[in-house]
Amino acid sequence: MTDKEKIVNDINRLRKEKNAVILAHNYQIPDVQDIADFVGDSLGLSQEAGNTDADIIVFCGVHFMAETASIISPEKRVLIPDLDAGCSLSDTITADDLRNWKSKYPGAVVVSYVNTTAEVKSESDYCCTSTNAVDVVKAIPEDKEILFLPDMFLGGFVARKTGRKIHIWPGECHVHADIKGEDIKKTKEQHPHAELIIHPECGCTTSHMFHCDNGKLNGESVHVLSTGGMLKHAKNSDSREFVIATETGILHTLKKQTPEKDFYPANPNAVCKYMKMITLEKVLKSLKEEVFEVKVPAYIADKARTAIDRMLYISSNIQ
Ligand code: 13P
Ligand code: SF4
Repeated sequence: MTDKEKIVNDINRLRKEKNAVILAHNYQIPDVQDIADFVGDSLGLSQEAGNTDADIIVFCGVHFMAETASIISPEKRVLIPDLDAGCSLSDTITADDLRNWKSKYPGAVVVSYVNTTAEVKSESDYCCTSTNAVDVVKAIPEDKEILFLPDMFLGGFVARKTGRKIHIWPGECHVHADIKGEDIKKTKEQHPHAELIIHPECGCTTSHMFHCDNGKLNGESVHVLSTGGMLKHAKNSDSREFVIATETGILHTLKKQTPEKDFYPANPNAVCKYMKMITLEKVLKSLKEEVFEVKVPAYIADKARTAIDRMLYISSNIQ
């Protein structure tokens, strides 16, 4: 038996003994995705955290995702295998920043992307993910001013899709901001028949948006989708080749789901070092020693849950 097989055996034994579930984001390394009970996008993972009857959730993702799971399921023990797995986008705004921003727009409705700390969510009216950001904003009465945070590219995309005047926080994810229009152009030239799929956190989203409205870019198909949306689209599309503009971890998920199709990264260096901090060894340690627990204080969790529940309610009515 190889070392890896031994680790996987121990993980399987412990998850059964402890009634634990392993949730993994689409950007996790292939080994971690392959042992997870559920692999998904931010929305799917939140829904799964709310529906599971496991006693322990081992969250293979980044810190704000584990916090969200703990807010949704406060009675469960939520563990993250590495406490340093943070998020550069979530770091662009603090709760104090948000309180200051809100004080300049009294009466405005605050929509926070899920990539935020629990404390920022507790200062927000609605949470959203890249799957449902447009629907969440559409659910807000037309006469309300909106503060959208922290991703400026997703915010711009939502403003264009809804036609609403939205104040947008100037945050960005360093991984997605680095996927440039030139990367896409070059990869498309190498694979002229491929469909183009872009995550709305990408810096290049803005320049592609006009074309995306028509589903076309210079006569080619182009779609702006969350990682979960990318998986659905790749499965249902007649195309056989896709250029994917997001973190490269999704390529494993896509290929595993649809092995007969080909997927090319717009930028092969689009790697989130935080997502890649989780390894099989750390998952085993997490299960064995029940570390590292992520628990949001009740006074923050109770307020943040309202924003998350509103999002989950809107999503359940559109799926
Ligand atoms: P989704 O998986 O919800 O599309 O989010 C991408 C992301 O960057 C998570 O950090
Ligand atoms: Fe955060 Fe970007 Fe990594 Fe997603 S890819 S977890 S937004 S740093």
